[in-house]
Amino acid sequence: MQIAIWSLTILSMFLFPVFGKAAQFETDVIETSAGTVEIMFLGHSSLKMEFNDRQIYIDPVGESVDYTTLPKADIILITHEHKDHFDLNAIRVLAGEKALVVMPESCAAQYQEGIVMRNEDVKIVQGLKIEGVPAYNIVHKRKSGFPYHLKGIGNGYIITLGDRRIYVAGDTENIPEMKELSEIDVAFLPVNLPYTMTVEMAADAVRTIRPKIFYPYHTGDTDLSELVELLKNQSDTDVRIRNMK
Ligand code: ZN
Ligand code: ZN
Repeated sequence: MQIAIWSLTILSMFLFPVFGKAAQFETDVIETSAGTVEIMFLGHSSLKMEFNDRQIYIDPVGESVDYTTLPKADIILITHEHKDHFDLNAIRVLAGEKALVVMPESCAAQYQEGIVMRNEDVKIVQGLKIEGVPAYNIVHKRKSGFPYHLKGIGNGYIITLGDRRIYVAGDTENIPEMKELSEIDVAFLPVNLPYTMTVEMAADAVRTIRPKIFYPYHTGDTDLSELVELLKNQSDTDVRIRNMK
């Protein structure tokens, strides 16, 4: 009996930090033809997707997340080199020996083990199809006149899981290339100033892409009620607001 109690105590010491910590993050489950995807919203632009026992992290950044309490990664996708997307410590904690880390060239100089992916590249990573999509600013620029995000530097990604296509846009505006995206089931689009989109731009992007589910992310202090109002007649898209601060 005593042994059983001790075993339980020791077990709970290991388990509690894992479940206790992870429980603070919201999750959504989406059905696919090949099993479910559990999306975990880790904050700002950081996401985790679990699919068929694979852990896929997108832009894991450790500001408000202790990654030692979360499962190790199988795939890590990095959209670009800015600090709110590219965190070497978080990558090292999650990657262990086995993860494949996909990133644009702008990050690869700092993480030599990365697989370089350019806009419009298509790769099969751990058996999953990953497509690169351009992500850049047209309107929003620094005082120097340079866009916050130059065309050709960062990636958005389309991840195909079963029969679902999940688009994580990275830091971008409503760029013309979005017209070419087809059959997007789930779209994560950034909505904050001055770096990404206004609510009007994001609403335009949603009308162009027509995803079945739209998650605003990378939202900063944006008033998302305005965005919901702009999309109230977009009946083929389910607008889902999650805690991504
Ligand atoms: Zn950025
Ligand atoms: Zn950003």
